[in-house]
Amino acid sequence: MDDTARRNFAYDTEAIRAKDVAHHVHPWTDFADFEKTGSMVVAEAEGATIYDSEGQGYLDGIGGLWCVNLGYGRDEIAQAMADQARRMVYYSSFGHHTSVPAAELAAKVTGLAPAGLNHVLFGTGGSMANDTAIRIVHFYFNRLGKPRKKKIITRHDGYHGSTYLAMSLTGVAFDHQGFDLVGEELIARISAPNCYRRPAGTTEAEFLDLLAGEFEAKVLELGPETVAAFIAEPIMGAGGVVVAPAGYHRRIWELCRKYEILYIADEVVTAFGRLGHFFASEAVFGMQPDILTCAKGFSSAYAPLSGTLISDAFHEVISVPQAPGALFTHGFTYSGHPVCCAAGLKTIEIMEREDICGHVRRVGPYFERRLKSLSDLPLVGDVRGSHFMLCVENVADKETKALLPGEVQIGKRIAAAAQARGVLVRPIAHLNVLSPPLILTEAQIDRMVETLRDSILAVQDDLVREGHW
Ligand code: PMP
Repeated sequence: MDDTARRNFAYDTEAIRAKDVAHHVHPWTDFADFEKTGSMVVAEAEGATIYDSEGQGYLDGIGGLWCVNLGYGRDEIAQAMADQARRMVYYSSFGHHTSVPAAELAAKVTGLAPAGLNHVLFGTGGSMANDTAIRIVHFYFNRLGKPRKKKIITRHDGYHGSTYLAMSLTGVAFDHQGFDLVGEELIARISAPNCYRRPAGTTEAEFLDLLAGEFEAKVLELGPETVAAFIAEPIMGAGGVVVAPAGYHRRIWELCRKYEILYIADEVVTAFGRLGHFFASEAVFGMQPDILTCAKGFSSAYAPLSGTLISDAFHEVISVPQAPGALFTHGFTYSGHPVCCAAGLKTIEIMEREDICGHVRRVGPYFERRLKSLSDLPLVGDVRGSHFMLCVENVADKETKALLPGEVQIGKRIAAAAQARGVLVRPIAHLNVLSPPLILTEAQIDRMVETLRDSILAVQDDLVREGHW
């Protein structure tokens, strides 16, 4: 299939754009720029290709937003959702009600999860899953009679979401601009485990020692009796596809054990196949988190769905009433929404039937190798990531790793050049991130990588012409 073939559509693009610009507030958007240029109206999609309202096709290197794991146009999922909506669209799961798909999905997802995570609280997004995790942690230590154990250690450049609490846990400074942080007295930050920008002259193993030392020093400085949890993505996503030195997660997890600190694995991006397993914590990083949050690929983006997975130990503590009638007063109208759960169940069924994780394990190393071939380009400082979660870091100087001036908007320019050539890659500051649907073939990977090469070279020529480089 030609991923950029045109289709004939009859959308009134100008009318849609006008309504959008006038009334639709977009997330993470430069509004001034947006008012000038408007939106690409994404109208239809199939497989790994999206089509704008004019009929132009683009190979989607972004996977929606790291989430359309099974690709677009899966009739089976749409059908399962429609069937559930017709049969029984919604009933609250508060108190003693449930639905067939919520019960089935709870059993299914906990069966796939790392050892011991036998219970799940459903939600509709990753931020909500992380907020839920923190509420559980605080409730848990209150119930255990340790009300001082409340602090959360998080990392610079970690991304945990966009509710006020999840944003405050987030360590991407850019995302804090213009906002206050909530619960600042309860949040402590440590360094990002960024191997590319580790202190000059240190080996990866020495860097790991430094990071583990920093974590332990932070715990001792705060007082272990005040530290409740550590939250981390297995591979940092929005903070720059940062892959920690080998052994990092296990080492920090062991320190968490030592000081009775809970480990929250934010697998919002990494769960459901992106790294070749349903969950990465145990299968890839060899540790068993106390709480695991997931979203995105959970329903392959066919419906808003997230999970906060917890162990029997938590479940016991939060489910025993402390006082007559006292409850774990947490949950949302759409926790366990039957239609979303039906989408999740069908997603997992397809993943198992088509062995999507096996495909990612087979093709992922090829993707990494092909993308690494861009390292010969003068603008490319680093190519990193794993399997279907990859990025290119663009620099002004490979030797010093110095960045181009912000106003060059290098990531955006390269993404625009790729878009003009029929491939979408995500710009994040000076990076270009690739997180395509997990169904990508080797031929599509070749096309994506070669287009990115052409785009980087074209932008490089422009920068030279403009005297920026
Ligand atoms: N955690 C991580 C690691 C994420 O990447 C994201 C979203 N990109 C979130 C949490 C927040 O998820 P959502 O946008 O669904 O609230």
